[in-house]
Order: sequence, then structure tokens, then C-alpha cells
Amino acid sequence: QAKREGGDHIEPYRPALRTSGAGRLQLESDLRRAFTRGELSLAFQPIVRIEDGRIAGFEALLRWDHPKRGAISPAEFIPVAESSGQIVLLGQFALDEAARRLSDWHRMIDPTLFVSVNISSRQLIRQDLIGDVAAVLKRYDLSAGALKLELTESLVMDNPERSAQLLSKLKEMGLGLSLDDFGTGYSSLSYLMQFPFDTLKVDQSFLKSDNRPERPIILNSIVKMAHELNLTVVAEGVETEEDVERLRELDCKYAQSFLYSAPLTAEEARRELMEQKTTLRRSA
Ligand code: C2E
Ligand code: MG
Ligand code: MG
Ligand code: MG
Repeated sequence: QAKREGGDHIEPYRPALRTSGAGRLQLESDLRRAFTRGELSLAFQPIVRIEDGRIAGFEALLRWDHPKRGAISPAEFIPVAESSGQIVLLGQFALDEAARRLSDWHRMIDPTLFVSVNISSRQLIRQDLIGDVAAVLKRYDLSAGALKLELTESLVMDNPERSAQLLSKLKEMGLGLSLDDFGTGYSSLSYLMQFPFDTLKVDQSFLKSDNRPERPIILNSIVKMAHELNLTVVAEGVETEEDVERLRELDCKYAQSFLYSAPLTAEEARRELMEQKTTLRRSA
């Protein structure tokens, strides 16, 4: 992971360059306390079926409400947790909490919902992910198919063989595997040959509402390729109705963006689901 930026200058892998030195150490120790003080929670962003605009599932996103600083973005604390090793605990928390909420919603509202949990490459290496996933499925009486794991492209750089083995095992267990932020790294296409993904999440940079003429062409190509590879597509961060229409024509199945809904608290998500269920009953 040394020469990522190219050139001869070799630097140790430090994903959280923005938070360095003392600030970083402070975050690490604050994060340790955050657990015991209940400052961490999960937000749930709807993943919407483009065909009918209904919620099919959610992406679980970690939230940290810091007592002094307020909300700290996962883009800031996840990299810190990754290099300190705390990501294992964070990951177990996210997995457990996501599964717990999902099982509530299955029982009370809709047994077809899924939840998608982000997994860092460090978790693949350090955590007993298979064991943790199996335990959580059992604990909350969930079928493996209701749980999806999202992995990003930096995933395999550390240990591709072991990653491939683990992902195959998870696939065999019946879990969904999504390749997150697709199209932003340079190894994205080869990942599709190396790992058993079933879903591709198109990075939001391909769905911005600027007028670059390349954008719709790239989007079309990605979706078509994904379909030929039998992958389900989730479009992240869609900004315009025009793009929604384009995606519908391309038969892209899901969208996840502020256009539909921001990430919700578990309680807000439950209310949305209840409302959706009521409307369905009325129209039936
Ligand atoms: P991600 O997995 O790609 O998650 C999607 C991010 O895009 C979320 O940011 C979400 O709030 C944001 N987003 C959704 N719709 C829109 C949109 O229409 N426009 C824009 N501009 N953004 C949108 P968030 O929650 O800040 O998370 C940032 C990243 O932190 C995530 O990116 C993921 O890589 C990481 N992360 C979050 N929770 C976890 C976790 O539990 N474990 C791990 N390992 N990483 C996590
Ligand atoms: Mg994600
Ligand atoms: Mg993403
Ligand atoms: Mg991302």
C-alpha cells in the first residue's frame, strides 16, 4: 500500500491525512470512549427500487455524535479506526445493530427488506468476519440473503488471495456482496473477475448534475456491462430526474441518493416503512 500516489516518493499508508498527529490520537481515545458512552449509532439510507420508487432495503451508515465536536463524519473517523485497529469493534457494532434493526422490521413490517453493511479491508484481514456474520444471523434469526456486505476497491491491495477466499465463503453462505463506489479506482474492472460480487454500486461521481458530455456515456456503459455480467446495479447519489429516467431506460434496478432520501435514524426508517406499507394496502 506504499506507492499509491505514484512517483518515487514512498510514504507509509495513511488514509486519514486530514487528521494527523495529536488530533488523530485524540480522536482515537475519544473513539474508545464513544463506545461505552453510546455516542455511536447507525443511520439507514433507503435503497429505492427505481421501477416503483419503493424502499427495498437500506445502507447502514455509522454516525458519531461527539460530545464536544458534534457529528463527526465517517469519512474522518473510519480511516482513523482502520489504522488504529478499532475498525474491528466498530464493524462488529455496525453489523450487530444493522441486523437487529432489520429483524425488527422483518417481523413488524416487511420480511423482504435487506440491509447493506460497509466492510473495510482491514476487517477482512483482522476480524473473524465469517464467524461474526454467522453469529449475527443466528442471533437475530435472519436469512443470509437479507444481509449484504459493501466492499470498496481498496479492499484487495493488502491481501488479495485471502480476501478472495473470504468473499467466496460469504457468498456460499448466501450473503449479498456489493462492490462499492465502482469506477473510482483503477482496479475496479479486474475486481469483477477476481471476486464474487453480485451487485455493483456506481459511484456518485458518475451521477452528478454537471453537464459533462462523457458522463451519460460512461454511466450507460457501466450499467450495460454490469447487466451482461449478471450484476445488480445501484446508482449512488443520483441528482436529477433526467438521470433517473436514463437509469429506468437502462433497467437499472436501484438508486440511493438524497433525491429519494437522506440517511435516516432507525426510528425514522421504521416510520417510512410503516407509511409505505399503508400506502401499499390502500392501493391494493
Ligand atoms: P459509502 O459507503 O459510499 O456511503 C455512501 C455515502 O454517500 C454516505 O456518506 C451517504 O450519506 C452519502 N450519500 C448518499 N446519497 C448521497 C447524495 O445524493 N449525494 C451525496 N453527495 N452523498 C450522498 P457517509 O454516511 O458520510 O459515509 C461516508 C463513507 O464512510 C461511506 O461511503 C463508507 O465508505 C464509510 N462508512 C460509513 N459507515 C461505515 C461503516 O459502518 N463501516 C465502514 N467500514 N465504513 C463506513
Ligand atoms: Mg457503502
Ligand atoms: Mg458508496
Ligand atoms: Mg464512499
